[in-house]
Amino acid sequence: MTVEAHKETLGFQTEIKQLLDLMIHSLYSNKEIFLRELISNGSDAADKLRFEALSDEALYEGDADLKIWVNVDKDARTITVRDNGIGMSREEVVENIGTIAKSGSQNFFKALTGDDAKDSQLIGQFGVGFYSSFIVADKVTLLTRRAGLEPSHGVKWDSSGEGSYSIETVERQTHGTEVTLHLRSDEDEFLSDYRLHGVIKKYSDHITLPIIMPKVTTDDKKDETTIEEEVVNTAKALWTRSKTEITDEEYTEFYKHVAHDFEAPLAHLHSKVEGTNEYTALLFIPARAPFDLWDRTNRHGIKLYVRRVFIMDDNDKLLPPYLRFIRGIIDSNDLPLNISREMLQHNKQIDAIRSGTVKKILSTLENIANNEPDKYATLWKEFGRVLKEGIVDDTANKQRIAKLLRFSSTHDDNPTPAIALSDYVERMKEEQKKIYYITADSFAAAKNSPHMEIFRQKDIEVLLLFDQIDEWVSTHLTEFDDKPLQSITKGDLDLGDLEDSEAKKEAEKVSDSLKPLLERINTSLGEKVKEVRFTHRLTTSPACLVADEQAMDASLERLLKSAGQAIPGSKPILEINPQHPIVEAIKEEKEDTRFNDWVSILFDQALLSEGGQLDDPAAFVKRLNEMFISMGDLSSSRIITLN
Ligand code: ADP
Repeated sequence: MTVEAHKETLGFQTEIKQLLDLMIHSLYSNKEIFLRELISNGSDAADKLRFEALSDEALYEGDADLKIWVNVDKDARTITVRDNGIGMSREEVVENIGTIAKSGSQNFFKALTGDDAKDSQLIGQFGVGFYSSFIVADKVTLLTRRAGLEPSHGVKWDSSGEGSYSIETVERQTHGTEVTLHLRSDEDEFLSDYRLHGVIKKYSDHITLPIIMPKVTTDDKKDETTIEEEVVNTAKALWTRSKTEITDEEYTEFYKHVAHDFEAPLAHLHSKVEGTNEYTALLFIPARAPFDLWDRTNRHGIKLYVRRVFIMDDNDKLLPPYLRFIRGIIDSNDLPLNISREMLQHNKQIDAIRSGTVKKILSTLENIANNEPDKYATLWKEFGRVLKEGIVDDTANKQRIAKLLRFSSTHDDNPTPAIALSDYVERMKEEQKKIYYITADSFAAAKNSPHMEIFRQKDIEVLLLFDQIDEWVSTHLTEFDDKPLQSITKGDLDLGDLEDSEAKKEAEKVSDSLKPLLERINTSLGEKVKEVRFTHRLTTSPACLVADEQAMDASLERLLKSAGQAIPGSKPILEINPQHPIVEAIKEEKEDTRFNDWVSILFDQALLSEGGQLDDPAAFVKRLNEMFISMGDLSSSRIITLN
């Protein structure tokens, strides 16, 4: 293998420059966290070495006692954080330290506003890691060698954080990484061992590796100063300790480490399962959705440990995708240490761990929903859309997940979804058999849809669904609490006992006398519709479109079309309000061209009012204008040119 021993100077990615700049300006009030970030990286590096050494013990190079050392050199004004973990090769340094490979980072940079106060909030969500060194240092040197490589493959990286870094291959006897921070002139406070001790206790006590600092003892009698080493942290896996001994602060710091998050979590769950398949789960619900929530390859999910040894980061085997926002660890006592990613797929124990853990998470969510509604509102805002996928993905827990769903509804016309299906059921009218809902492309479209008219008039609550995923959810959630869910834009409207039978009879009589009109409209629309019929669901609108009971919902159809999917065209049913003045007027229209224009307008406005797109909008506008003109005033005096 050839080694590029030469020293080269490389430019940081533009994003890193931006990140460094932002960090230095926005994190000055919380500078000390740089130490937590470096220790966290050292701990991850030790986990990786331990895991790789399971299949190749030589990687330890005779030194399996993994630790992190923190040293201060007052004269040189430096802090050094060293680990004997996995280390990095030259390529890995360039890749990990020179570029931001994080998935979702594009979204982060797009979200930046240039306003320091706002951006510093964002940076917390992004996680700053290694770069936080530059908050306190004006020069950072990193020395490293990957475990298993020759001493001649050491790497030295340094940078002053101003756009470029240099990298060279050096001789390095020990594996692992050593980061030296040359402190800025006003950062003397961090040259104190006492201060650093405090920072480590505060943020890194949960780290399982011993964190070593020198202990300075002065022997007065001999007037001699000896330096001993001391372990600063508790150095015991947090999740192995009893729940009652662990403080909220400790849980929070542990969360920040596993999730690479700056903010405290919304909630945690810590459970030990005993029996033939023993495991401990320590899981967290973050307070905010990460930038890469929609990226299913996101690597910061659940970490799998076997008997305290880190095995792998995993997202899709230990938890189903709809719970991919959960962070934390699962530590199994019974899985083999050499379990591979492939083996996870067909493993009974893993299956049992997954289904047990899903149940625990659902109870945690239920608890929050029942006892801490404000917290649940935050949770729903951040993760509701992902959770909804569970209705489709997790049939076994469908009804439990259904209870956790929140929607908008005509009960309070609040665009923030906050109504549970059980709230709806509680308010249902005595004669009401179904849970009514409408799906549309936006809150306004749902709320103001003509289909809603009869429900408003009769004061029947309708759930307003306007999230794209709601289409899928509603096709998979057909009942709740033994009550069928019914789309109000589908099929023949049957309000059952909610119907006013006298009024219905009256309407039927009117309809009978209008039968010839229906025929004429049907002929006029031809292939555009499946059927034309009268309806009593409209009170103020002249017409609306309805999907066949079996057909795909119109807004789902639009969604699929916009996603480029070819779908067999299902024709809508045009429903006409026999009492509407426009309908009465066209009944009298003898002239075919004008009649056809009226019918086209009726059809097009029905399509528009449910958020659909017209095939030929210009023709619609032209017809409408012609109608206005022919209706009187406009045509008499003013000059209007129609094209
Ligand atoms: P994060 O830890 O969130 O991934 P960092 O910027 O802190 O982000 O680190 C980037 C990457 O650099 C890490 O994912 C890891 O691969 C590598 N790295 C950082 N510190 C160390 C270390 N002490 N030992 C080995 N690899 C490291």
